[in-house]
Amino acid sequence: MFHYQHGLKITALDLAVDYTRRQPRGFVSHAHADHMARHELAFCTPETAALYRHRLGDHRIRPMPLGESLEWRDHRLTTHAAGHCLGSAMLHVETDEGSMLYTGDFKLGASVTAAPADPPEADVLVMESTFGDPRYQLPPREEVIEQLIRTVQLILNSGRTPLIHAYVMGKSQEVTKLLTQRGIPVQQHPLTFEMSQVYEQLGCKLGDFKRYDDQYLPGHVVIAPPFMQQAPRLRNLGRTSSIVVTGWAHSPRGRQTSGADFAIPLTDHADYTELLKCIDLVQPRIIYCTHGPVAFVDDLCRRGLDARPLTSLRGNPFQPCRV
Ligand SMILES: [Zn+2]
Ligand SMILES: [Zn+2]
Repeated sequence: MFHYQHGLKITALDLAVDYTRRQPRGFVSHAHADHMARHELAFCTPETAALYRHRLGDHRIRPMPLGESLEWRDHRLTTHAAGHCLGSAMLHVETDEGSMLYTGDFKLGASVTAAPADPPEADVLVMESTFGDPRYQLPPREEVIEQLIRTVQLILNSGRTPLIHAYVMGKSQEVTKLLTQRGIPVQQHPLTFEMSQVYEQLGCKLGDFKRYDDQYLPGHVVIAPPFMQQAPRLRNLGRTSSIVVTGWAHSPRGRQTSGADFAIPLTDHADYTELLKCIDLVQPRIIYCTHGPVAFVDDLCRRGLDARPLTSLRGNPFQPCRV
């Protein structure tokens, strides 16, 4: 049904899944840069289509709304919510030979900007496993959100500007809504603000947020791209305390490598526990892991599961997921 050729392909449809190089036909699970390219024809949810066009320009799209099946050459293709960011979707492929679920980046549980993940059962599971290490069992989400709010209030009370570094698409909008829901207004870097406008046009309202125009408004939290994304710097921020929001915050690698004053383990990826829960929900016969540590495959095998690296179909090294 599928094979690996620089990435995952649905063989009979010649449909490339999350390729970062242009293809005649490409499924785009969500609009993060490490999952998309300027395909001749892109298959994705309508929300991802809007975000994809915002990032890469106008494109031919075959929309795949969540839950609506597309019948194509004896294949039934259905998208299911992935809970990662607005529009993110898993791809379920059913044929007479059996079924396959490709998760893309995903997270179980609640999100204020993405539909909650609902993985269906499948014979084969191709799973993103970024946090496939028992060290990445993150605290309950409610606790993490409280930690974020407390940290921001602490900084505001000390007369400093809370400056949160988050990816332009996805995490920034999630954090914005979490803050505005608690009555804390937000100013966004112009790049982030543009993306948030697309979210709003898609009906995902983010509350009281404004574009940062080189003028800090007291009482606001400022959200800007991560240090490594070389966005133009904001001016007149005053004395800042910086916060990064990332699942990696839970590891020694987190705050030290980010250089931020605070690190909050808010993630849009499944943590170790959720990865195992996803397998439980899907009940696959075979699991192919991608975007994660090799040790996770061994871990699953020790649990009696038939797990393999996706690249075992070809033999390329693992790449951790960037966003
Ligand atoms: Zn990714
Ligand atoms: Zn992603």
